[in-house]
Amino acid sequence: MIIKQADFVISNTNLDKCPKPIMPEYAFIGRSNVGKSSLINMLTGRKKLAKISVKPGKTRLINHFLINKDWYLVDLPGYGFAKVSKTSKEKWQKFIYKYIDNRENLVCLFVLIDSRHEPQKIDLDFIENLGEKQIPFAIVYTKSDKLAKIKLANNIQTFKNAMLEKWEELPKEFITSSEKVVGRDDILNYIDKLNKFYYKKK
Ligand code: GDP
Repeated sequence: MIIKQADFVISNTNLDKCPKPIMPEYAFIGRSNVGKSSLINMLTGRKKLAKISVKPGKTRLINHFLINKDWYLVDLPGYGFAKVSKTSKEKWQKFIYKYIDNRENLVCLFVLIDSRHEPQKIDLDFIENLGEKQIPFAIVYTKSDKLAKIKLANNIQTFKNAMLEKWEELPKEFITSSEKVVGRDDILNYIDKLNKFYYKKK
């Protein structure tokens, strides 16, 4: 897929104010600092579409972008930031889950995992929750350029093993580097395929 157009549409904290669910939608989520903004910018080929975070956990809005006037890309706020109060975390959970659980045109939620780290409980818990609610999702390993090949493969396998403790089947996965532009075509082709299915089905 070639991205000819990428336009910011709206930022909000309210599902009711999101654009009408008349096009397929793909949302990106992960712990703060996982590389989400960089990935969105890399995918769209726009350097500043999503704001690279200055303060971890700063973006707390659901940001909608319209791509090629054909589908929505959604930048969701990061989770797991340390310096946030319990009430603020609960608020986050409420509005994110309201979006995830009810957004009828959400075709796939891309969950970003930092490939440098050991499996983190917060990521595994989040993923488990998606499974319970049967939300379609895929895993995107980020920052793959930061590791040697063997270490990268080991970390990914360790993460998969952790998932296999709860899952019988593993979700679709993508290995990416925004720095080296790795994984772009794979993700965009996947979205393209799902879009075709979405429009045919409608
Ligand atoms: P966000 O908080 O999830 O939106 O993360 P950002 O996109 O703001 O990235 C967090 C930090 O990781 C920034 O310093 C980025 O430059 C860096 N980063 C993001 N993606 C990559 C990548 O693919 N490779 C490398 N080496 N650094 C990355």
